[in-house]
Amino acid sequence: MMDFESILREHGLKSTPQRSVILSQIYDSGHIDIEQLHKRVIGIIKIPLGTLYRALTELSTVGILTAISINGLKTHYEISKPSHAHLVCDECGSICDVEYNASNLLENIDLRSFQIKSTMLMAHGVCVKCKR
Ligand SMILES: [Zn+2]
Ligand SMILES: [Zn+2]
Repeated sequence: MMDFESILREHGLKSTPQRSVILSQIYDSGHIDIEQLHKRVIGIIKIPLGTLYRALTELSTVGILTAISINGLKTHYEISKPSHAHLVCDECGSICDVEYNASNLLENIDLRSFQIKSTMLMAHGVCVKCKR
């Protein structure tokens, strides 16, 4: 279990039960879209979809969450982690994390002319379950 209270404080946000529930549910799911998240969250705490949307936007803006846009899927949210790539299954929509080293990729970029804040690599394909 992550210490969401400290994470929130480090990012200048107050720790509230609502934010803690949202973060722990996202943490448990890995990657989740707002509707799936809402279904999980309302079992624990009453929060309207609009409020949840605003909370997700706020948590993404300060960098605690990363919003992942994927072709053909709703925006998914995850707890921000060091650079990793996403393997997206085009059949079932599952999203898998895989570590990668971005340095090969980045050495082709002139860092004096372009300042990188984050990188996001995504591979589309078919997962092992759908391949069977
Ligand atoms: Zn699949
Ligand atoms: Zn991820």
